[in-house]
Amino acid sequence: MSTELDNLYQEIILDHYKNPHHKGLRDPFESEVHHVNPTCGDEVTLRVHLADGPSGAMVQDVSYDSVGCSISQASASVMADLVIGKPVDEAMSIHQTFLELMQGKGQVEPDEDVLEDGIAFAGVAKFPARVKCALLSWMAWKDATTQARSDTAPAVTDVVGENR
Ligand code: ZN
Repeated sequence: MSTELDNLYQEIILDHYKNPHHKGLRDPFESEVHHVNPTCGDEVTLRVHLADGPSGAMVQDVSYDSVGCSISQASASVMADLVIGKPVDEAMSIHQTFLELMQGKGQVEPDEDVLEDGIAFAGVAKFPARVKCALLSWMAWKDATTQARSDTAPAVTDVVGENR
């Protein structure tokens, strides 16, 4: 990776770290989780609010409170940007794309159309110790969303969970 691209990625991460989007815990919500990355000391408390949309369940809001390194905090900001307002199925698909990027050891070319500012974490994927930092809030979101779906889904919603 070129130094220029590295610098750009670092700038994006720093920007989200300094000015996190959607931060703070909000009501209403269907589920709340607390996830910890002990290797770095990152922590996130995250709430998910789902709503019925035209094509099934929608991610109405994701709110969170986080402490930890710049990568974990910037990642929470980027994640919230990417999933809020999306159908849950599409958000899960974005989650999967980000996961594949982070597990790609720096060999996966990031898809900017899908990941937007999330491409900035492509550089982080080369450092196994930092991958958990970048994934913390994404894992918390998936956990909370899965819980919210199983709690708020009577007969109407298809509780298929992992349908990928
Ligand atoms: Zn960290």
